[in-house]
Amino acid sequence: MDELNDINKQNDKIALTSAQLKSFLKVNHALGKLIYFDEAGLRDNVIIDPVFLVDVLRSIVTDDQFWPEHLKEILKSLKESGKLLKRDLYEIWKQDCFHQKDDEDGSDFFLVPCMISNKREESQQIDHDRSIHLAYRFKEEVVPPAILYRFIATFISIWKLRVSAKSSRLMIFTDSADIGIPCGTDLCFFDHTLSAKEWICPEHKTKHKTNDVSIWFADKLHTKDDRCTENCPGLDKVWLDRQPEDKHLGRLAAKLTNEDTRKIYIRLQEVDPALQWNIINESSKRGGFDIKINALYDWKKSSVFASFKQLQQSLNDEDIDIHKLCQISREVKKEFNQPREKLQLRPSISNTQKLPDHIGNQTFQLGIELGLSVVEMQQIESNHVTNLRSQTEEVLNKWRRLPEATYEVLEKALHLEETIGMTPMKLEELLNTALRM
Ligand SMILES: [Zn+2]
Ligand SMILES: [Zn+2]
Ligand SMILES: [Zn+2]
Repeated sequence: MDELNDINKQNDKIALTSAQLKSFLKVNHALGKLIYFDEAGLRDNVIIDPVFLVDVLRSIVTDDQFWPEHLKEILKSLKESGKLLKRDLYEIWKQDCFHQKDDEDGSDFFLVPCMISNKREESQQIDHDRSIHLAYRFKEEVVPPAILYRFIATFISIWKLRVSAKSSRLMIFTDSADIGIPCGTDLCFFDHTLSAKEWICPEHKTKHKTNDVSIWFADKLHTKDDRCTENCPGLDKVWLDRQPEDKHLGRLAAKLTNEDTRKIYIRLQEVDPALQWNIINESSKRGGFDIKINALYDWKKSSVFASFKQLQQSLNDEDIDIHKLCQISREVKKEFNQPREKLQLRPSISNTQKLPDHIGNQTFQLGIELGLSVVEMQQIESNHVTNLRSQTEEVLNKWRRLPEATYEVLEKALHLEETIGMTPMKLEELLNTALRM
């Protein structure tokens, strides 16, 4: 790149600005005349002959039959570990067809995940408590090329590869890799949902900061006092483009006053907002939460695409804290003492029969939080206009038929501050019949 800049400068008056030079490179990259990636770590180099790069890559990423016989050992270890040592690379380039330029900087090896041929065995048990599962939703309808290889390479550069205790081989496969936190000469695997800041490895007595792993999802968790960090910019772009689920509207309604809800509704609703607001007020049977959720839902239903972005805009315009949206986007962190297997069970009618006595008029909120829709809740409400207890019973019965109806889901919903705010103790007492089995 420096050389290119020098050449450019020689053009005196007609020299390109650095922005123009970058555009020039990108256009020619698109045309296939040269190779230039405007990415950290790559943008300082321009490959003026694309065929050259292909040849270089082909010396490594290629089929068995093209590997020189005397270097087959290198190929074998590459296929097993995805790792290519620098000295092996130089060995490959010693062949006649390459002109070698020495480079003493940089790391001792390179990762070539696409060359790994080991498959993960079917029987492999993954320890779920101590594994992080990342799920990404892509905004465009394309999956970025080689995304999995990029992930694997990224994680391996942050953490260390696990070595199988049985076969003492590296746990890297064609589609995945097991990694852990380096601990002395070994690796540690700890529960990533630990709530303490530090964790002492019982085996090596080493202290680890738990945020080493929790940073990967920490911003999605409900924290103790549920405040955003000082420099929180609000929801990220992916969230802003999303349509709020009924559950989110329920949580937001619980965090807004009636007056605040009216203000943002007037801004959000395009047609006759003042009249619509009055109609919602008159038709909402129980006032309070009902009015707020019905108004928010009315906006969602009547706009072409209701997004978090629109919500944030309206909150901003009315000087209402936009971090309420951060709060409602976070999920409750599990902090229950029951064994995991029990939390995964589906409660029976008799298990939850004591519950309705303790829920009072928060039935609507509870129902939405449990995953019933606003429409379903409106129906349940009109089925039992005056009988709150029957409403709650119907909510629980309807919910119990959902595929994901487990104790864990129920406990999280009941625990949520904006909903019932039930303490784990109280919960355990109410659901005791089942959890003591
Ligand atoms: Zn450790
Ligand atoms: Zn350890
Ligand atoms: Zn925030």
